[in-house]
Amino acid sequence: MSYIEMRGIVKIYNKGKDNEVAALRGADLTVEKGESVAVMGVSGSGKSTLLNIIGTLDDATEGSYFLDGEDISKLSALKKARLRNEKIGFALQDFGLLEGETAMYNIKMPLYFGKSTAKELKTKPRETAEKLGIDQLLKRKVSSLSGGQKQRVAIARALVNDPQLILADEPTSALDRKTADEIVGIFVRLQKEFGKTVVMVTHDKAVAERFDRIVRIEDGRIYG
Ligand code: ADP
Ligand code: MG
Repeated sequence: MSYIEMRGIVKIYNKGKDNEVAALRGADLTVEKGESVAVMGVSGSGKSTLLNIIGTLDDATEGSYFLDGEDISKLSALKKARLRNEKIGFALQDFGLLEGETAMYNIKMPLYFGKSTAKELKTKPRETAEKLGIDQLLKRKVSSLSGGQKQRVAIARALVNDPQLILADEPTSALDRKTADEIVGIFVRLQKEFGKTVVMVTHDKAVAERFDRIVRIEDGRIYG
């Protein structure tokens, strides 16, 4: 069985109401452990919906989804939250950071939901920041950082629990070309050096082409 196995995923928002939207209409996706996959598609094609379902933040209306051999549809909300915290790191377009807090505070946050010791609460954020070359930024308030620095902080937060799966939703679309290329380089390194599985949604072909595989999403289905 593959690391990610999705079959016939349907997602309907506002089902049965007059504002019903079919965002996914039978999407199939398999991703192997340690693979990097870029998901491309026009705006509104269901990319974020797909990523949210992969990340167990949202449930499919129909279809089956197995992550690391586990049938996600059978898990309670609590078990899903635990699995998310242990196995999945998210990086988002608008970074999703607390702007008024320090980089350290933001990177540390996921550890409060796990079983970290007091020592790990100090060492893990620092080690993760060092890996990404941002240890000198730890005391800075997020609001004082550049876009590229913010995305590095967000990636550090995604990595602090050492998850196997990294999900990124247009992580470079708020960045200039050079910074975007550097940030994609980080995701490539996470896969190649640290064996992470990376699924990234992007509009940017140059970004997508640095990944092992590109899939396209169109009319709520996945091609390629
Ligand atoms: P993308 O990320 O490719 O731009 P989305 O997955 O965000 O696409 O959206 C796919 C479709 O589902 C769009 O038509 C969007 O308006 C709709 N949609 C997304 N989220 C919701 C929601 N929470 N409630 C209702 N409709 C939604
Ligand atoms: Mg989106």
